[in-house]
Amino acid sequence: MVISSEGIVLRQRKIANNRRMIVLFTKRYGKLSAGTSINEKSKSRSALALRPFTYADYNIFKGREIYNIDSAQVNKSFYSIGEDIDRFLTASICIEYLDKVLAEGEPMPLLFDLTLEFLQSVSQAGKNAETLLLAYLFKTLKMLGVAPELSCCVNCGKRLEEFDKDKFKSFSVTSGGIICDDCAKEEKTDTNALIYRPSFDIIAVYVYFDSKPLKTFEKIDLKPEVSKEVRAILAEYIERYLGADVLGQGIGPEV
Ligand SMILES: [Zn+2]
Repeated sequence: MVISSEGIVLRQRKIANNRRMIVLFTKRYGKLSAGTSINEKSKSRSALALRPFTYADYNIFKGREIYNIDSAQVNKSFYSIGEDIDRFLTASICIEYLDKVLAEGEPMPLLFDLTLEFLQSVSQAGKNAETLLLAYLFKTLKMLGVAPELSCCVNCGKRLEEFDKDKFKSFSVTSGGIICDDCAKEEKTDTNALIYRPSFDIIAVYVYFDSKPLKTFEKIDLKPEVSKEVRAILAEYIERYLGADVLGQGIGPEV
């Protein structure tokens, strides 16, 4: 049976007999691994569709246990990503992230569309695409079913209005959301607890990222000190709830 879907390449490696194994994120079937004999060095239409940061249509033969990419056509190549080191590193983190967090065979069409928007925006971004990356990652949390609790204390349910007057609230990675002072005190007795007290309003930042289209962040940068804190919290959060360590090696501005 031959199936077809839009997709992007997440990873590839050489296998025997001049063949390669390609890991695709397809819109219709989710992540899937497929072999192919298409020669990467050729200038054929199909070969171009196997390059990084390319959005293409793939025709895939589905056998009983294997997939094989028979042919492909480029829809759009985000080639300008490869022309700039910041864009390249930012887009590479996104691709590595998807490869780690997606389960094979689970369609995620909204996440697929968001990823296309992200690649489009990165290919047009100014020098620093860091804010774009953070916004993208925040938006994916809800789609992946691991959104943090930000409407009340994640531990005791205390409503935000009942918190102390300080608008800078504590965020517990361990518990997965905003945490009130009483619960923070209790949780801190566990030395392994990951509790942050950001120097900014983390709820406002989240709502800002969540409510605006990605395109907004092509030209907007968070303040470097805020960006660094957001990145640190997000890195811990993603590692804990999605098992992916993709923000560990900082590419962000050193401040
Ligand atoms: Zn509480």
